[in-house]
Amino acid sequence: MRLNDKVALITGAGNGIGRETALLFAREGAAVVVADVNDSAGEKTVADIVAAGGRAIYKRSDVSKAADCEAMVAAAEQTFGKLNVLFNNAGIMHGDDDNAMTTEESVWDLTMAINLKGVFFGCKYGIPALKRAGGGSVINTASFVALLGAATPQIAYTASKGGVLAMTRELAVIHARENIRVNSLCPGPLKTELLMNFLNTEAKKQRRLVHVPMGRFGEASEIAKAALFLASDDSSYVTGADFVVDGGITAAYVTPE
Ligand code: NAD
Repeated sequence: MRLNDKVALITGAGNGIGRETALLFAREGAAVVVADVNDSAGEKTVADIVAAGGRAIYKRSDVSKAADCEAMVAAAEQTFGKLNVLFNNAGIMHGDDDNAMTTEESVWDLTMAINLKGVFFGCKYGIPALKRAGGGSVINTASFVALLGAATPQIAYTASKGGVLAMTRELAVIHARENIRVNSLCPGPLKTELLMNFLNTEAKKQRRLVHVPMGRFGEASEIAKAALFLASDDSSYVTGADFVVDGGITAAYVTPE
């Protein structure tokens, strides 16, 4: 097992990437703190882990709130004794996030508070815990849209994810000699609630798929496997990376017919 005796905290672990990663990390031997704002979804992730013989707790945490982030890290240390892996994964894609002319300030502020400030708060309270544990791995979920411009505008989301990439690189450099690795995960378009709610017609889905060389949306479980690599000692020489898992989108100029 690749995460034996490790303790992992995963934000947004009630659904999508976070949920699949929590289930996988638990199967690989980690004790998992499931953090989310959706109590029933978070508790279901925990119940499924426990039913499969794993260890997990649910901690309601809004990542845009400093006190919640401090408390979720404290819950990891109080319940499982330490923190080894911090997966700052929670994020939103607001339905009214559009171009610079049409997007409301409130949509911008909410997106930044969760997607960008939430990662900062996770690190602000999580990195001291990783140091107390003698080191560890931080994984921050960004997106392929932080690397490529999209004709489907979502200005606040894209800007927030660009911030995650820049912040991750600096964190990686600052903490490299403390045995703490910090990487960003850049998923391509996935078949999760977040994107399927945004691309809410067949035409919008097909418009996006035109750009994916593999011709399909990814699965959350495929991102979970990449997160496992970044969390485990298999990636011991990887830090400051933009780890892209995108079905080939960022490699493509023209996609095959
Ligand atoms: P999802 O909507 O399936 O799950 C996100 C989870 O985060 C939900 O359980 C939700 O309740 C939780 N959440 C929302 N706001 C929160 C908050 N303030 N505090 C704590 N938890 C909160 O989404 P997903 O597709 O699994 O996305 C996870 C991450 O991956 C996000 O950061 C997203 O931006 C990123 N991402 C997704 C895609 C995609 O195509 N789905 C692509 C690239 C990047």
